[in-house]
Amino acid sequence: MKITHLYIDQEALEFPATSAICASLAISPQVISDSKQVYDPIIQSESPVDAGKTSLWLTRNRGKFVRPCPGTEYYTCCDYTILHIGTFCTMDCSYCILQSYFHPPVLQYFVNHADMDHALDDVFARCQVMRIGTGEFTDSLIWESLYPYAATLIKKFAGQCGAVLELKTKTVDINHLLGVGHNRKTILSWSLNTETMIKANERRTSTLNARLNAAAKCVAAGYPVAFHFDPMVIYPGCEDDYRDVISRLFAAVSPDQIVWISLGTFRFMPALKPVIEKRFDQSTIVYGEFIRGMDGKMRYFKPLRIRFYRAIIAHIRRIAPNVTAYFCMEDDEVWHRSFGFTPAEKGGLPRMLDESAIRHCGLTPNK
Ligand code: SF4
Repeated sequence: MKITHLYIDQEALEFPATSAICASLAISPQVISDSKQVYDPIIQSESPVDAGKTSLWLTRNRGKFVRPCPGTEYYTCCDYTILHIGTFCTMDCSYCILQSYFHPPVLQYFVNHADMDHALDDVFARCQVMRIGTGEFTDSLIWESLYPYAATLIKKFAGQCGAVLELKTKTVDINHLLGVGHNRKTILSWSLNTETMIKANERRTSTLNARLNAAAKCVAAGYPVAFHFDPMVIYPGCEDDYRDVISRLFAAVSPDQIVWISLGTFRFMPALKPVIEKRFDQSTIVYGEFIRGMDGKMRYFKPLRIRFYRAIIAHIRRIAPNVTAYFCMEDDEVWHRSFGFTPAEKGGLPRMLDESAIRHCGLTPNK
């Protein structure tokens, strides 16, 4: 983490995480009482996204730590639950939605961990199947160098029966998690992409080989794992490149240790296009055959998506016929023409994923 500005909410001074993080960073913090003191310098900087990536704000989460993933009514959602540990990211992917999602974007880390603990206790008391992840508004593991808290969460999830924690990342610093008693209630998951995409569009992330090696280590330590191909970008030669990644994935990790694999082609809100053009002037990902979808996002023309998905799914099925693969945000027609079935035929997407979590993670929820 390269932090140049450290802000601490007056109300966050007392928390153990605040003192630990301050001790680990050799910069003087600015204690603030108003969020404008954080936002204004970022907004006024030449590149707010870059400024946000080096400005760290230690604060309290005043909203809900546990909340449903927003999803959309137009496409099939997976009924995921977010554990909201912080915002934004120190890595830098051209397509990252967080660049235009927060106004302005800033690295926020929530230090009121006791409140998070209580929120999780409420969830666990229900003992119902839940898939909970910290990687929606940030990368799950970038915070570990600052304040290693993942092991605490892993141990907490290990002691209950209905929920599974997903830690989604593009980092590979997992050695300190290998010996933690996880009881298979934590899924370590990696976002994967082609070498071409990683090189041109994923700055400061780890290499594909490093991600696959980290996943293999986690499997050896007994963790269930998952993978996300999202966004998949259509470019000349992309099908061969994605097939290559899939072959390497299954060479590194046995399919029976994989809880799920998600697939999603590139989509973006129109407001993200100028951000990508300005910050990644070598990237060509926004220049494709896009149309505006029902949720307002630009997506590849549907026949293109289907043709691409069919090729990729055929390759997955050749190697791993039984692995749970699914689409993030596609409609029934795309499901049917790509997978050969709609989620409804399998009881719905949430149920498909819940069943896979039950099978792989040994969940024993209340009926
Ligand atoms: S790793 Fe994820 S959160 Fe971080 S910049 Fe890339 S897409 Fe965004």
